Amino acid sequence: MQHFPIYVNLAGRRVVLSGGGDAALAKLRLLLKTEARLTVFATDPAPEIRAWAAAKRLTLIDRAMAPGDAVCATLFYAADEDAAEDARTAAIARADGALVNIVDNLTDSAFITPAIVDRDPVTVAIGTEGAAPVLARAIKRDMEERLPSSLGSLAEAGKRFRDRAAALPHGRARRDFWAEWYDRAGPAAIAAAADLDKALSRLLDRHIARRGATGHVHFVGAGPGDPDLLTMKARHALDWADVVVHDRLVPAAILELARREARIVDVGKEGFGPATPQSAIDAMIVDFAAKGLQVVRLKSGDPTVFGRLDEEIEAVVAAGIDYTIVPGITAASAAVAAIGQSLTRRGRNGSVRLMTGHDTRGFADHDWAALARKDEVAAIYMGKRAARYIQGRLLMHGADPATPVTAIENASRPDARIIATTLAQMEPVLRDAALDGPALVLLGLAPRTSHETAAIPALEAAI
Ligand code: SAH
Repeated sequence: MQHFPIYVNLAGRRVVLSGGGDAALAKLRLLLKTEARLTVFATDPAPEIRAWAAAKRLTLIDRAMAPGDAVCATLFYAADEDAAEDARTAAIARADGALVNIVDNLTDSAFITPAIVDRDPVTVAIGTEGAAPVLARAIKRDMEERLPSSLGSLAEAGKRFRDRAAALPHGRARRDFWAEWYDRAGPAAIAAAADLDKALSRLLDRHIARRGATGHVHFVGAGPGDPDLLTMKARHALDWADVVVHDRLVPAAILELARREARIVDVGKEGFGPATPQSAIDAMIVDFAAKGLQVVRLKSGDPTVFGRLDEEIEAVVAAGIDYTIVPGITAASAAVAAIGQSLTRRGRNGSVRLMTGHDTRGFADHDWAALARKDEVAAIYMGKRAARYIQGRLLMHGADPATPVTAIENASRPDARIIATTLAQMEPVLRDAALDGPALVLLGLAPRTSHETAAIPALEAAI
């Protein structure tokens, strides 16, 4: 992050701009939304600038800038659209102590102006460090559509009501109140053309009456790793969380989506290495929720697939705490997508097994005879260390040694790897591949030969 985004209070402060053409107009239109004292130096100002000066919205000085003209200025804009003149005025302003921006010159500017979505007092600033203005515009368009034009009025009313909202204790109770205002009660009041201050009062009364709410545990699927594969519900839950208790496989990019104030607890284990004992995890989530907190128990993939979910649910239920399950995309779905195949297929396999290579007691036992049959498809989780064992069992039960076996490591992540082999070669091929990320083994499926893996950039559709 080369540029640090901040909001500067310009009320009553001096802002100086040199230039009178299109670039100057574009900047002035933005600056006129602030309460800054604006001074413009221009030898040939556009008629709009003259009109603004006549209306006393800015001070116009009909000459080129000279040393001392930017004294006491907080910001200075060089907008003459002439490299030599911009360099000259910028040098004056720098010497006068102003922070300088030269229009369309990132390198010589001390600050840059972001793309702005304006729902005053709510503003969204979008910056790409000059790298991708097209992307910034696409995000701006997206935000413009997403943020209702009434947001400004809601926020204004909210600002007036801030002191009264302090009747609710700081933290969850107050956050819930504001969230309901911005999500539902506020928009509804605007739609009904109701008095916003009265609507806020009514909402506050309701929230005061509702106090003493208990905590809740959300068992949330984080998906296979790509943050774009999170569900909207998972994102909402992360947005709401007071505490996020997560496994090792949940990547940092997903944890970053948690509310900034949320406490993040890693209870992951490394391979067969030390782990937080299950009973300690159970006790921890119960303790947090008993304190009235919103707990997100974030598990990789889908929480209901090899996630020891029942043990945690039982602990939560025994403590009389409410819970919700938010499904996620399981590793098998991401893995099969990576090889361009389908988990089931008419006429081939009408069922698919999600199986584990090992369980708490060691290598897991399965109905090997059934699995060894032609056209069976199975997704083997935690199968890396059990590869030789699984291979031996299947061959012993008569499986065809030519049965395709594909391991997908880090499915859905940028470092995904696909290792295609056969049951006969499963060991040593998987061992030699030295898989060190999470890997899913698909039995009975080979990558589709015509399959090309083309990434879909998350924002491409918006540009
Ligand atoms: N609840 C998870 C599975 C947890 S068990 C789910 O639904 O996906 C952990 C195993 O999941 C790993 O050993 C690996 O076999 C598999 N796994 C998880 N994420 C994966 C990924 N991105 N790519 C491949 N396999 C993955």
